[in-house]
Parts: sequence; structure tokens; C-alpha cells
Amino acid sequence: MPPRPFGLYVHFPWCSFRCPYCDFAVTTSRPIPGARYAAAVVEEIRRRAPAFAGRPCATVFLGGGTPSLWEPSAIARVVEEARALGLHRAAEVTIEANPESADAARAAAWRDAGVTRVSIGVQSFDPAVLHKLGRRHGPADAERAIREVAGVIGNVSVDLIHGGRRSSVDSAQADAERVVSLPVTHVSSYALTLDAEVLAEDVPFARLARQGKLSFPGDDEVVAQGRAMAGVLGAAGFRRYEVSNYARPGFESRHNLLYWRSEDYLGAGAGAVGCVRSGESAVRWTNHREVGPWLTAVDAGGLPTAEEERLGAGELRNERIMLSLRTAEGLEAAWLGPEQAGEVEGLVRAGLAVSQGGRIRLTAAGMDVHSAVAERLFGG
Ligand code: SF4
Repeated sequence: MPPRPFGLYVHFPWCSFRCPYCDFAVTTSRPIPGARYAAAVVEEIRRRAPAFAGRPCATVFLGGGTPSLWEPSAIARVVEEARALGLHRAAEVTIEANPESADAARAAAWRDAGVTRVSIGVQSFDPAVLHKLGRRHGPADAERAIREVAGVIGNVSVDLIHGGRRSSVDSAQADAERVVSLPVTHVSSYALTLDAEVLAEDVPFARLARQGKLSFPGDDEVVAQGRAMAGVLGAAGFRRYEVSNYARPGFESRHNLLYWRSEDYLGAGAGAVGCVRSGESAVRWTNHREVGPWLTAVDAGGLPTAEEERLGAGELRNERIMLSLRTAEGLEAAWLGPEQAGEVEGLVRAGLAVSQGGRIRLTAAGMDVHSAVAERLFGG
């Protein structure tokens, strides 16, 4: 068996402003010490790499934050480090970008640095929805960014959010129609999440909703908006290959597929998460979310780990069930024990899953309630 590949995730935490629904590790402090941050990221990668020895780095994902604010020379430095870990010249290297910092000139610099895919945070093409999300760009900025970047790096993904204030089934459908009219290969379509159990930290929108000062569409409306988007994307040839992700054939995110296939990933940078398996168990680490403590730890010659979690066979198995059911590939039936056969039959009877060729896949209705379905198949 060839050695299992792993992905490299690098977190760049700086943003121009903080969106009121965002729970990511983000800072708006200035100036951005881009070169110093890149040097420290490279240092962290070198210190973590021995845990992945002998295995090829298959993909790179530069996420954030807004890594499109990072100097291309810093990005090139990080990609070069990944090459030393076996990253192929044609491998997928994604950068997340906001419309305000994505244009043809930057795209050319990213391409020269080794970037092959750009994921643009559009969120909506509806000015009222964008305004209520607290975003600063307008629909025209987003369309310009998509066209300019696609003219240089053909592989452009767009993030859309539904379920925000002022959103409706009509606005969700219009967003999907606009995106499929543009040179886009991939769409991530997320419902706005303000659930305290899911968020990594409290965010202004969640606080205001708790205090009754802001109201958001209810669950049924959010599901209806998601279905409206799915309908348009599907009709335009985008395959729903994961609960929230749609791609033209051959343009699925290889990096994110590594996560959903329970492969390992080396996370570096403030707030990054990484995971490496060994035998029946795994170690998952989360780095310091604040740049200061993260840099101090790297400068001190150690690892900038804030938390480390050891996962046993049972936890890994349940996680694998949860992740693989997110995808159109589905779950290998062999992963389930005989005690779950009744549950699978129940899901199939309810139209939530199909069982075929040794795999269990969720239907569109099953994907809408993915978490609840996956939990029914967890082992004790
Ligand atoms: S631009 Fe993205 S990462 Fe930055 S605050 Fe807004 S949602 Fe969060």
C-alpha cells in the first residue's frame, strides 16, 4: 500500500474587519507582520512534519481570516515548504479570498506562488442580505473578483450563505442563479449558524439573537432556502458531493475530501487544527488562537499547541461515520456493526439513505438532517 497522503492547512488570521457572525480565529490588528508570520509558520511546519514522515503532502489550503491580504512572497514561502514535504507541482493549492482583495494582479502573483484554486467569500449577491450580514462588499465587487481571478486561475470556488436576515427562498435561488452564470467551478453553500454548541466562540449575532434584538429565519425556512439553491446548482451541472458543497465534474475540493475521508492533516498558524493517526488512535491539536501566544510559543522553540486531544478507536469510528455520510461517496457498510443493520433499514425505509454496493449514502432529504442521521449509526 502506498503511504497515505496528508493535507497541509495554514491559517492566516488577519481580516480587514470582523463579520458579526464569524467564530474563526481572526484579528483586525495592524500592521500585519506578514513576512514574520510566514517564517514562523514555516518553522511550525518543520517541527510538526516528523509526525508525517514518509508520507506525501497532497494538498495545501491557505484559510483564514483573509489570506488574500498576505503578501504573495509569503505565500510562495509556505508553498515551497510544502514542496519539501512532497507536494506535487500540479497539486491543489487553495487560497481563500475576499472580493475586496481579489483581482487579476493578485491572482497572477498567487499563481506564480503555486496557487491553483481560489475560494472567494461572496456570501450573497443580494445587497440587502450582504448589508445585514455586515459585509462591506457589494454584488458588483464579487462579480468583478470572480471574473478577474477566473481569467488567471481557472479554478474558482464561491462561498454562499443562506439563512441570514433579509434572506428568502427567492434570494437564495437568485444567488444560485447568479453564481452558475459566472466562471465558477465549485460552490460551498452554508446555512448561517448561530448555535452556541457549534460555534467556537460567542459572536455578536448570536448574542443579539439571544437578547431578542435580532431575529433570523426559522429552521424550515433555512432548509427551504438550501433546497432552492441545491435545485438551481444541480440543474446547472453542479454535483452535490458533500452536504454543503457542489462542484462541476472534476472540481471537487481535494483538500476538503481528505478531511471527509478521515485522512490526516497538518495544521499550522494561529488557531489551526491538525490531526495525525497512529494505529487505532489519533492525536488532534488546536493551536493558540491569538497571534501573540502562538508566535511566542514558536519563537521559544516549541510547538504552539493550546489543546491536545487523544481520540480512541470508538471516537474515530463515530467521526468517520459522521464525516463519510456528509459525502456523496457515503459510508463503507463494513464500518458498521451487525447491531446497526436495523437502523440502516429504517433510514432506507424513511427515504433518508440508500444502501448499495457495500456503501450507505444519504439521499438529499437525509443530507438535510445529516447530523441526526449520523448519530443513529454511532456505536456505543
Ligand atoms: S472575512 Fe471571513 S474570516 Fe474574516 S471575519 Fe469575515 S467571515 Fe470571518
